[in-house]
Amino acid sequence: MRRKIAILGATGSIGKSTLDLIERNPERFEVTAVTAASNVDTLADIARRTQARLAVIADENRLVELRQLLAGNDCRVAGGKDALIEAVDGADLVIAAIVGCAGRRPVMAAGEAGRTGALANKEALVTAGALMTDAAAASGATLIPVDSEHNAIFQCLAGSRAEDVSRIILPARGGPFRTASAEGIRAATPAQAVAHPNWSMGAKISVDSATLMNKGLELIEAHFLFGLPSRLLDVVVHPQSVIHSLVEFIDGSMLAQLGSPDMRIPIAYALAWPERLPTPAHRLDLAAIGRLDFEAPDVQRFPALKLAREALEAGGAAPIVLNAANEVSVASFLAGEIRLSDIAISVEEALQSTQFDAPRSISDVLEIDRVTRARAQAMMKANCS
Ligand code: NAD
Ligand code: MG
Repeated sequence: MRRKIAILGATGSIGKSTLDLIERNPERFEVTAVTAASNVDTLADIARRTQARLAVIADENRLVELRQLLAGNDCRVAGGKDALIEAVDGADLVIAAIVGCAGRRPVMAAGEAGRTGALANKEALVTAGALMTDAAAASGATLIPVDSEHNAIFQCLAGSRAEDVSRIILPARGGPFRTASAEGIRAATPAQAVAHPNWSMGAKISVDSATLMNKGLELIEAHFLFGLPSRLLDVVVHPQSVIHSLVEFIDGSMLAQLGSPDMRIPIAYALAWPERLPTPAHRLDLAAIGRLDFEAPDVQRFPALKLAREALEAGGAAPIVLNAANEVSVASFLAGEIRLSDIAISVEEALQSTQFDAPRSISDVLEIDRVTRARAQAMMKANCS
């Protein structure tokens, strides 16, 4: 029996790596559905190649084009946000690789339906982590993290009891400005910020890596996935990006997962779990690497990390506000409207100026998210003009 896979965000970086692995192992996997935001040409091409039964384009205005492109293929087409949810039907495993909050509802739907979810979309966990893990627990769904650090933790934890874990350490590569001065960071251009030496990633996560907000979001992600409080979650800067996370146990043992910086390794783990899948990822040559370096993160130059920890500790709506204000600010930075260092400033303003009750449902999450985005946008406009 081939495992049925739905790929949400098939045209993105994670989506492409997933397709690469699936196409190398046609006897093990079958693609049921593929989705994209607006790139109909690539989506149609993927749907044809994989013989997916359903192709969903989130931008409804492109549906007619998608229909034309897939005419004569045995593939149903659909458009709009609600149709993204249909894509989880009939899948054994849902690859959640939509970037940003647009991925939240389909991930929630997968969890509620008891599907195994390979979760790349970190924003969904950060903003609706408790709701999501509760829904998965209630339906018996397994969430397998794809984010490399959390996938590493998942691997290190295999077979151990929760009460035996004393600490989790997330390594941060440090981003392209790891050794830059505060002034250098202030003057950074979008092109410099998205130039990520080790990994090839989408623009939003690349900017998050440059500000260390990515590591902050990952702290929150780890909190929800593994149920540990902030004080048991550490970050260490590790420029080689060879260790993807470490777990410390009560006896003082530490386990780490190592591998080349290739997202196909964690994606393969999620695709084949609880088995493993061969990947073409480059094998580590430890002697050639020579040494592994570690340093404490500098929260003065990278305040986003501190803000994320504060949001994690505050709990309730704070992670949603952090994430929404960050998404708006990153988009604004990529559009050349604000400086890189302004991202943390506007996130801090959003965290300080908003008071929300803790969300009790996904619609509460959406509302807090909506209000925060509108305020962050208005605040940025006011600051820019
Ligand atoms: P990407 O920008 O390359 O791709 C995003 C995908 O989501 C595309 O298929 C796009 O069409 C789709 N999409 C975007 N906006 C949408 C919308 N409004 N509605 C529906 N679909 C939409 O991003 P990526 O790098 O592949 O990252 C995907 C997710 O995985 C992100 O949440 C990211 O944080 C996470 N992640 C990525 C990496 C990585 O190395 N790329 C590592 C860890 C985690
Ligand atoms: Mg990561």
